[in-house]
Amino acid sequence: MHRLWKARKMRCLRWKGILAFIKSSEFKKLYLFFYGYIYFCMLVEKIDEFYREREPDKKRDYFYVSEVGDCPRKIFFKIKNAPKEPMEPRVNRIFHNGDHVHIRLMSVLYSLGLVTASEIEIPPDKLFHGRADAIVHINKENYVLEIKSMNPFIFEKRAMSKPDINHIMQLQLYMHYFNISKGIILVESKGNQELKEFIIQKDEKMIDDILSKFTELKEKIDNNELPPVPDKTGWDFDKCLYCVYRKTCRKAR
Ligand code: SF4
Repeated sequence: MHRLWKARKMRCLRWKGILAFIKSSEFKKLYLFFYGYIYFCMLVEKIDEFYREREPDKKRDYFYVSEVGDCPRKIFFKIKNAPKEPMEPRVNRIFHNGDHVHIRLMSVLYSLGLVTASEIEIPPDKLFHGRADAIVHINKENYVLEIKSMNPFIFEKRAMSKPDINHIMQLQLYMHYFNISKGIILVESKGNQELKEFIIQKDEKMIDDILSKFTELKEKIDNNELPPVPDKTGWDFDKCLYCVYRKTCRKAR
């Protein structure tokens, strides 16, 4: 009997302890932490889902000016809609962030009254489609403007001294299609919003090289001829490491 009474008392004390803990601030903190964590996970998943859906694959028989510096084999796979790894939502968010850099800087240039036209499509062309960020008018001269945002590390290491060759090639094509002899590459560091600008003169030789290289690539694509793995010596980094066609490319070798 005495033992039974003792066991009941122990149970009662245990419950009292549990109730006291539930009422304590430590419990509230724990509850908020777990509830907040679950909510946070749900939100991140939803945002990732949104960015996964921003990956349209359009059938086309032309190139985009923005892919002028891409690996030709990758462009072949893209146009042929070859199997690819899904793009990480984080990478899509980086691109989205870049769009906002454009909007912000363009609104300043508009306020300064320097913008003649923005987001302008190049004239219809069989080889290239593309849209330049803007044409600006400064000191009685027109310039094609390309706005780029850059990882702070690359900005410090490279953009402070010279522009990216891929950006130059894009700008050269826009200058060619708009028949404007000068362009500006405006680069912003994503880390501290520092700006750097480069004035670029039209380079007919570079434009001819790009156009003939892409005419050749178009022929290959039309004939279903996969371009070879490119010579990577001129690459700043190994683009294959981040290529969504890595597996397809390896299988096709
Ligand atoms: S894996 Fe490398 S070589 Fe192959 S398509 Fe991609 S970037 Fe080009």
